[in-house]
Amino acid sequence: MSGPRPVRAPRGTELSARGWQQEAALRMLQNNLDPEVAEHPDKLVVYGGTGKAARDWRSFDAMVRTLTTLKQDETMLVQSGKPVGVMQTHEWAPRVLIANSNLVGDWANWEEFRRLEALGLTMYGQMTAGSWIYIGTQGILQGTYETFAAVAAKKFGGTLAGTITLTAGLGGMGGAQPLAVTMNDGVAICIDCDPRAIERRIEHRYLDVKADNLQHALQLAVEARDQRKPLSIGLLGNAAELLPQMLADGAPIDIVTDQTSAHDPLAYLPVGIDFADMAAYAAEKPADFTQRARESMAKHVEAMVGFMDAGAEVFDYGNSIRGEAQLAGYQRAFAFPGFVPAYIRPLFAEGKGPFRWAALSGDPRDIAATDKAILDLFPENESLARWIKMAGERVHFQGLPARICWLGYGERDKAGERFNEMVADGTLQAPLAIGRDHLDCGSVASPYRETEAMKDGSDAIADWPLLNAMVNVASGASWVSLHHGGGVGMGRSIHAGQVTVADGTALAGEKIRRVLTNDPGMGVIRHVDAGYERADEVAAERGVRIPMREG
Ligand code: NAD
Repeated sequence: MSGPRPVRAPRGTELSARGWQQEAALRMLQNNLDPEVAEHPDKLVVYGGTGKAARDWRSFDAMVRTLTTLKQDETMLVQSGKPVGVMQTHEWAPRVLIANSNLVGDWANWEEFRRLEALGLTMYGQMTAGSWIYIGTQGILQGTYETFAAVAAKKFGGTLAGTITLTAGLGGMGGAQPLAVTMNDGVAICIDCDPRAIERRIEHRYLDVKADNLQHALQLAVEARDQRKPLSIGLLGNAAELLPQMLADGAPIDIVTDQTSAHDPLAYLPVGIDFADMAAYAAEKPADFTQRARESMAKHVEAMVGFMDAGAEVFDYGNSIRGEAQLAGYQRAFAFPGFVPAYIRPLFAEGKGPFRWAALSGDPRDIAATDKAILDLFPENESLARWIKMAGERVHFQGLPARICWLGYGERDKAGERFNEMVADGTLQAPLAIGRDHLDCGSVASPYRETEAMKDGSDAIADWPLLNAMVNVASGASWVSLHHGGGVGMGRSIHAGQVTVADGTALAGEKIRRVLTNDPGMGVIRHVDAGYERADEVAAERGVRIPMREG
């Protein structure tokens, strides 16, 4: 019987698979479970509460075995983390096709999902956990940095210096918040109920210090704010208790958000339960736990609304906490906006989104070379240059060295083709896996997050991610995934992903050009269709064909 064991992707140029396309999928699957990358690798959980890379250890072993022997004209099919078939396709076809956590509409709720999961029939794939392109906390750092920069631009004269941000959740993704705030020169108080989460972020230099208690946290925060010095402070405790207390005490908070695992009520600690007892209680009494978690979330969100009423900038960071609080009966849960309509949609209209790549060599010098290539390719983009330079200095790699930056339509293909040339001419030591988050401009339907408050009301139309997956298959991606649930939970989103391998061959160059044009192109057409003017301009300027605008 296979069971938990440490997993780490091989480095270097020696292949265990029959080609780099398969090798890339193999290494990225293993990399997702690297203890440096995954939150709970022994349980195959990569991030986001219960987001897994493989259904169970037997499935993991079978996928490794299959990827090692898979031919250039074969495709492995993965159904919710388990390999279910190998079919003959062709060289342009993806080497892996993945469908995770999908349920038919009327059945798409947590209760049914958990029942099926307990029977061993499915797993939760989150976004990049089950699609093997999670790159650790850096993946979200750049998006979080952009979001806080947009908050600064909107309300604080372009900098967070002299402000205090209050948030909770220092997990796989939420752990990016403290560094994103300090990169924008602000002060952050970050609450988590898990001491390990706080320690881990300090070890990785994403978080500066840990406070002894609430008073101490506030004292440190106010001192740093008054000196306009960036500082991030970890505070141990339950956000549903601490936020109402801070509101009642009149704590001087300027910005409030949250990244606890609220999308999954079994991963949110209810008030009155010790962290040490959380897992056992959730397993033994899931219905009771869910009820209590939702009630606590209602208290948490009520305090967020209170801070908003007191003048703070408050937004939901895509974890469904408003929806859960509403389920618990709190009426004003949606009084504050989600971060996408508030700050990100204008970027989506240009086909911009979280483009990322990992160096299969394992050598950080390959990423340094790609950083330089990005700076050379887009010299006019100052915020991109600022990010790439800061990331080079401050980002601690987890697992295979990787980089993320937001690029738009007409930019991603340029970068990808340049990277492929760098593999071909030996500038890079080995190929790159080029992918992105599912949280992208044209790859997701998620009415509480990416498609909240669309201009034409099309928030819940899920044809777009399906078209996105199909167009990536048709364009030559190396692996394509179609998931349900993701960061907002069962019944609330459908999203697709792709990864395309730059192995330096001419064929890879052809595939990259198509995939990295058509994939962000989905974002442009989706936003043209919804009536966004900026998307119209981008389509006209950059030549995206829209049949309804022709003839
Ligand atoms: P995670 O499970 O790794 O971490 C969640 C953290 O919340 C844990 O450290 C846990 O201890 C803490 N926590 C749980 N209940 C708490 C409570 N009551 N008080 C204080 N701390 C509590 O999850 P993650 O990967 O960091 O993701 C967090 C959430 O943010 C998810 O819901 C995810 O979907 C969402 N998310 C959204 C976006 C986005 O839209 N941009 C990006 C990333 C993550």
